[in-house]
Amino acid sequence: MEVILASKELNVKLDGFRGNGIRIGLIPTMGALHDGHASLMHEAKKRCDHVVLSIFINPTQFNDSADFDNYPSSHEADLALSESCGVDVVFMPSVSDLYQGEPRVDRVNYGLLTNGFEGGARPGHFDGVVAVVRRLFAAVKPEMAFFGEKDLQQLAVVRKLTENEFTDLQVIACPLIRDVDGLALSSRNARLGGKARAQALAIPRSIKQIQSAVLGRLSINQALNQAKIELELQEGVKLEYIDVIDGKSFETCRSGDHGVPYVLIAAEVGGVRLIDNIPLDPNRRLT
Ligand code: AMP
Repeated sequence: MEVILASKELNVKLDGFRGNGIRIGLIPTMGALHDGHASLMHEAKKRCDHVVLSIFINPTQFNDSADFDNYPSSHEADLALSESCGVDVVFMPSVSDLYQGEPRVDRVNYGLLTNGFEGGARPGHFDGVVAVVRRLFAAVKPEMAFFGEKDLQQLAVVRKLTENEFTDLQVIACPLIRDVDGLALSSRNARLGGKARAQALAIPRSIKQIQSAVLGRLSINQALNQAKIELELQEGVKLEYIDVIDGKSFETCRSGDHGVPYVLIAAEVGGVRLIDNIPLDPNRRLT
């Protein structure tokens, strides 16, 4: 495995890989890697000849500077995990290398995909996501790129970007990986103290409760209202949004009849903002 810090060097390395029918896979990450990221690496290894994993804490997608300042990093462990998963190249560019100077982002408007939910709660977030993913795609020119369903809205935004600007690139969505207790794995979990870690379990519990309630014939509205009431009573949990949406368009669903409905949640626990989701019908999912 090679660690490459600059785009020029990456170009030279990847030109050596490219060839007829050769598939290069890209996994964009912000580091502090865990088993959720490892599942993307395993999928990429299965499908591609060469796997590039990028580690870049993208400043332009943080609307909250404290969140950026406190974002965890663990380079040594990240490199060890990447190597053990068979990654060929870890690309760790500086901000000025990737953005070719001062970071600049353009406004992105993909309608509901960029304006609703995460887009509404974190103004400018998807402008930064699109800016960095566009630059990583241009730097690596992969045949396939791997993203987790954990960031369901980001996945939809990246699919739209790819459809508009990178038509030869295949986006592969990978299922959300949870800890044994049900909490969705996230780099930010490292910032949860013991008490907050326990309180955070209300997040996966509430979306599973909605899934079961709707399977048991409660209406989506009734199930959402019940979950909201319970979450309001949960000590330490500040609910931002909880809803049922179509995982592709992000339109709200009030009957399970159209699209691929997902229960979506964002909440703050112990000063850490967490997101999670689950398919409303376990037998109907995007991946
Ligand atoms: P991040 O480093 O958090 O920006 O995530 C990099 C990629 O890993 C994104 O495509 C995420 O959706 C994916 N990812 C993060 N956590 C998980 C998880 N628990 N399960 C599956 N994929 C994940």
